Amino acid sequence: MKKAAYVTTLDNNRVQCTLCPHQCIINDCRQGLCLTRVNRSGVLYADNYCRPVSTAIDPIEKKPLYHFHPGSAIFSTGPNGCNLKCSFCQNYEISQSVLSLREFTPKELVKKVQRSNTIGIAYTYTEPYIWFETIMAIGESIRNLDLVNVMISNGYMEPQPLAELLEVVDAMNIDIKAMDDDFYKRLCKGTLAPVLRTCETVKKKIHLEITNLLVTGENDSDEAIEKLAKYIASNLGKDTPLHLSRYFPRYKLKSDPTEEEFMLRAWEIARDSLDYVYVGNMMTSDKANTYCPTCNTLLIERKGYSTQIMDNLASEQSTAGNCLSCGNSIAITL
Ligand code: SF4
Repeated sequence: MKKAAYVTTLDNNRVQCTLCPHQCIINDCRQGLCLTRVNRSGVLYADNYCRPVSTAIDPIEKKPLYHFHPGSAIFSTGPNGCNLKCSFCQNYEISQSVLSLREFTPKELVKKVQRSNTIGIAYTYTEPYIWFETIMAIGESIRNLDLVNVMISNGYMEPQPLAELLEVVDAMNIDIKAMDDDFYKRLCKGTLAPVLRTCETVKKKIHLEITNLLVTGENDSDEAIEKLAKYIASNLGKDTPLHLSRYFPRYKLKSDPTEEEFMLRAWEIARDSLDYVYVGNMMTSDKANTYCPTCNTLLIERKGYSTQIMDNLASEQSTAGNCLSCGNSIAITL
């Protein structure tokens, strides 16, 4: 059993978990809102420690990360549980109930990643932030093997643990669910401000991409897309890739899938403010491709999860993106 990090001891065997903004006060024999941090006799344990909920080798585009080693495969795994309660959760079977899972040692997990013959590990599927102890236990060993650590997260974090994670994590995709605190409170049992604070901190240190799931009737308006795109341009930089993801009814929310027509309009609106905008969870002829924002040359073509890097993206041996047609530098790590 692994003791949880970021805990304050209270009276009567109660503890306060200070890992995420919920700051749960947890009575003896109870767990926090994320389900996997459990108080036993006044000691908080991270019950999901080194227990992967599932493992797979995925294209990095599936995370989605389009500007970080495009075309690579990455070992993907994550913990049971989540610190948000989104009523439209697309992975609720593994995020919103407690599962009985095998515990590995950190060494065994690192070996699995090493043997996967990929660029590294993506902490994903549910909310990897609540796998803090696991990431800290294996992240540095992964780095020492010249492999990468990437997180696909809801960004609902506290500054101090985030600072620790940023010592080992190389890239993140953070889901900004809506630029609307009421949306977070009503549909996710969270708040917006910590998510934006996380995005701004992450962008200063490592590679960042943003995802926004367009939920029918909730955040699929022209104004909502414009507000998000303008926020990203002003606070994270217009070179930050934005993935607009099509919603399908899951878990408690039964509204229809996002209109395909709206997905394309959302792309147009966001593209007015940002250099790199992508449509995900639906097939389009060109909205998953990367074009040079200056001369519009096709740089990366994506069809499903097949990725073709064009000759005009970079000179040989270079790991930095560069449009060879116009000389513009492209915010991509190859
Ligand atoms: S990590 Fe879990 S237990 Fe800790 S404050 Fe957040 S939701 Fe509560």
